[in-house]
Amino acid sequence: MEKPYLYLSGLKKLAKKVKGTERIHIGIRPYGFHGGNALSLFVYPYLLCKELKRLGKEPRFTFFISINDFEQDELDGPDYRRYPFNIYPKNTSLQHTPDESGCCKNTVNHWQPIIEQIVSSLKNNYPKLKTKFIRNSSLKNKKHFKKLLIDTLKNPNNQAEIFKKYSDKEVLDSPIRYAGIICPECKKSHGVTTVMSSKKIQWECATCDCTIERPYEYFSYWWYHKPMFAARMRIFDMDIAMSGADHYNEGDYNIRAHLFKKYFKNHPRLIMMFCPILMARDGQKMSKSRHNEEFVKIKELTLLAEKTKAGFIILPDELIENVKNGREYALTFKKIKIKQKNK
Ligand SMILES: [Zn+2]
Ligand SMILES: [Zn+2]
Repeated sequence: MEKPYLYLSGLKKLAKKVKGTERIHIGIRPYGFHGGNALSLFVYPYLLCKELKRLGKEPRFTFFISINDFEQDELDGPDYRRYPFNIYPKNTSLQHTPDESGCCKNTVNHWQPIIEQIVSSLKNNYPKLKTKFIRNSSLKNKKHFKKLLIDTLKNPNNQAEIFKKYSDKEVLDSPIRYAGIICPECKKSHGVTTVMSSKKIQWECATCDCTIERPYEYFSYWWYHKPMFAARMRIFDMDIAMSGADHYNEGDYNIRAHLFKKYFKNHPRLIMMFCPILMARDGQKMSKSRHNEEFVKIKELTLLAEKTKAGFIILPDELIENVKNGREYALTFKKIKIKQKNK
């Protein structure tokens, strides 16, 4: 597998290498759209297209945007920052997380249209691009997804071995769980999942005390994004994956490759591009879990990213976008438009 493409210099190298028709994957937790999300879902794809155009190639990429609704609502565990591989959901998956604004059935229904509007606005500048938005829960019954999810339920220790080997982070002997059932009764994730076969999975809920035995297809699940990534690589047949540098720092470059090799028996030909981390005003990585997220002025962030070679960008105060909510924020993306030279 090729070396990863890192930050601005990686983006420029990548633009030289590609044809412009590649399949590019980007994932997002559908739980907001802060500046860090804007950087990896809009700014970096935009800059890649811009560089391509500068080199005389028309961007015709297909962007596969994974709406990661199988992910944990919040991480919990002994100390999820120190031991990021000893984690489980605090309550449930994002699929079953209520909408904070209260207007939709869940947080995914609230944020997906906003994410779609923002990412699709890339096409205002590069009309030959294609965008596809896929909820991970909709892949549940696909062959490769099912196979890997069942294996994650049955043998999480096999994956923990890979995390131990290819990450700098310490892995505790327990808890080791990378997937589980969401209770069909109370919609919570705490309990015991036992796989007898794909036709017979048992769920014992620790919240509402129900015990249910059904085939795989019956249940809804949460699933840690690293093994889920391998399944998505296989299904989408992606050429390029763009992710934030926090994934690079967790060893994802090697972890993804080795998980893929383990389950699909060959080396992925995947190219991985990592975008810088956006540092919030408190000096920490901007993220929902750190409660330091802000909407960011998109045009100004693009200009700043275009000049930043480092693996992180420190957010200046004047880049905070003062809008009431995500819907209003999505409208600001229409403003970003670059001048194209007439041929
Ligand atoms: Zn809503
Ligand atoms: Zn329950």
